[in-house]
Amino acid sequence: MDTSTDIANALDHDIAALKAKAADFDARHQLIEKVTWPQGVRIAVNFTADFDAMLLRRLFNEPPSQLAKGEFGGRVGIWRLIELFDSHKIKATIFTPGRICELYPRAVKAASESGHEIADHMWEHQVPKDPELERDHLRKAKDAIEKLTGKRPMGTRSWHTRELLLEEGFVYNSHDTLDALPHYVSGPDGSKPLLNLPFHYAIDDAMFFSFAWLNTENQAQRMMDPDHVEEIWWAAFLQQYQQGGYLNICMHPFVSGRALRIAMLDRLINRMKELPGVWFPTCEQVARHVLATHPAR
Ligand SMILES: [Zn+2]
Repeated sequence: MDTSTDIANALDHDIAALKAKAADFDARHQLIEKVTWPQGVRIAVNFTADFDAMLLRRLFNEPPSQLAKGEFGGRVGIWRLIELFDSHKIKATIFTPGRICELYPRAVKAASESGHEIADHMWEHQVPKDPELERDHLRKAKDAIEKLTGKRPMGTRSWHTRELLLEEGFVYNSHDTLDALPHYVSGPDGSKPLLNLPFHYAIDDAMFFSFAWLNTENQAQRMMDPDHVEEIWWAAFLQQYQQGGYLNICMHPFVSGRALRIAMLDRLINRMKELPGVWFPTCEQVARHVLATHPAR
């Protein structure tokens, strides 16, 4: 048996499989090389908060102390975030599981009344595999938000299937991270594209401040100094600012709602506001702008 030929054949096979994957990826994604923002705008900054509260903790079957941490997000953290954004006249997007409308209706309503966008974050923070059940979950979440705020959610941060989201009238997802700019994701044949507003774990509070995340060991804890995180996020902002780009800052009320982190966000926003051409819209505003000015092919 000729081992070197076998290895060469196996490599050829791997390369062919990788090429097929790359071709499939190309067919399913439409990137936008340069986004043109409204007159005078250099960068669009989306402040987004995933209002998971203890729902996510429960789903992971975490111990009671973790449930309490989630509870803090619903009782205190969300209110501090609303106050912070209101004080800066920033319209944020709150991705809200349907169940959260039952658990913390006052907070969701208050956020909506302050002009923040309430968007979908699944019914119970998970997407059922059965298509009928999936549709049922999405509709329930949509209805719960609409009942509370009087507005139908137009966006989502979820694993819901693209076809279903389009059928149910959603105009964007904010989930995938494959490009720094908004882009379109479609089927393998290029059909039915849906706009994605990317966020990245590098700008996600949970990656920096998660203590006892999923019962991790002490050495795996991430409890960073807010000043240090401020500098990392500021550098990410400046990089996008210089090239006229986009930044989506992902927060969780139970993580960012802590006092020192709110103070850090306040400083970060003040620094951003010192530069000209910084736009703080909701995700829906960004989506509507991109859909109108950079439609999918
Ligand atoms: Zn979540």
